[in-house]
Amino acid sequence: ACYEAALQYAGERVQFGKPLAGFQLVQEKLTRMLSQLTTMQLYCRRIADLESRGALRPTQASLAKYTCTRTARDIARDARDLLGGNGILLENRVIQHLVDIEAIHTYEGTESVQALLIGRDITGIGAFV
Ligand SMILES: Cc1cc2nc3c(=O)[nH]c(=O)nc-3n(C[C@H](O)[C@H](O)[C@H](O)COP(=O)(O)OP(=O)(O)OC[C@H]3O[C@@H](n4cnc5c(N)ncnc54)[C@H](O)[C@@H]3O)c2cc1C
Repeated sequence: ACYEAALQYAGERVQFGKPLAGFQLVQEKLTRMLSQLTTMQLYCRRIADLESRGALRPTQASLAKYTCTRTARDIARDARDLLGGNGILLENRVIQHLVDIEAIHTYEGTESVQALLIGRDITGIGAFV
């Protein structure tokens, strides 16, 4: 939703005589958002496949949660930035998603705790209790 809102806004908002979407830096931001979004979708697709086969390991779920929540935060932040001042208005939806993702970042395992679980799995050394 944040990506779609940013893309639409960039096509409509005119600054310096042309739509924001016509500026190279804006296109790079949109490209990064789409790239990140596709990465998240592939993660989710992959763990859904593993889960449906009964083959999903907890650390794989941690890796997906770690990646998708931090990436969703980045996308929401970039979208808010692309909407400029309008990005903080609730009616433009992006700020609501940005705040919502903050909760998901923390519950069902914070980013740091997911990292500790993954770190223990890949190194064999538990860095917490
Ligand atoms: C919207 C929302 C809904 C929730 N719903 C539920 C629910 O339905 N059921 C439920 O049981 N709980 C729920 N929670 C609670 C959630 O699971 C906890 O907030 C979460 O586990 C983090 O615990 P904490 O808040 O005590 O933070 P803390 O454990 O105090 O952590 C604070 C910070 O320290 C970091 N940290 C902690 N330990 C380490 C460490 N060893 N090394 C490095 N960093 C560390 C954390 O990553 C975090 O950044 C919900 C939380 C939110 C925000």
